[in-house]
Amino acid sequence: MVMKYILVLLADWANGLFALVAALYITDEEWQWWFIPAAVVLSHLPDIDALPELLRRGRVSASAEHVSDHRTLLHYPLLAIVVCVLFALYGGFWGILIAIVIPLHLLNDLYGTGWGLALFWPFTSRHYKLCGRRVNRLKRILIEDSDWQSLPESERRFRIIVSWSGNEIPAYIRRWGVDDWIALWYLRLNWISGVEYVLFFIAVFTAGVVLL
Ligand SMILES: [Zn+2]
Repeated sequence: MVMKYILVLLADWANGLFALVAALYITDEEWQWWFIPAAVVLSHLPDIDALPELLRRGRVSASAEHVSDHRTLLHYPLLAIVVCVLFALYGGFWGILIAIVIPLHLLNDLYGTGWGLALFWPFTSRHYKLCGRRVNRLKRILIEDSDWQSLPESERRFRIIVSWSGNEIPAYIRRWGVDDWIALWYLRLNWISGVEYVLFFIAVFTAGVVLL
């Protein structure tokens, strides 16, 4: 079911369209239709670190079946800032688009599904995430798994900023990671899928108004 895999990409595609509109505004470049698919592809630039796993397993996850988080390289914000500045300075129109879309992608990875980002790597490998729980699942999913009542309050409490040290994250991924996360998060409506789908529609509407 291809649609299932498209749903998880919509927030990134939205960021591609937002970055395209912003880069056109900044540079006065004359747009052509193929800029749209190009911007959509570039919206996934930081996810090149997931390609080896995707090719090997046919899916990307951080779970007991695959106790590793692909978010490395361009998912390290301090490294990404350097790359973005270089692209913005020397990359012309596409460099500016990339310098906009990478931070937007990282912002999107800071909430929702996944294990946040190692914001201050290489100084610390601690992962940070916005609006989540230490156990890193939606309350509904925890209740369905009947874990909710037995969980310590500190583990299940919803936090604006949640973090895991680099040492504890493998154990959390093994215990709480979900291999088929797409079905549980994106094939149902919750605040995460809701926000991402709305962002996509806003981006399509904005791009339509500005470009057409
Ligand atoms: Zn990512």
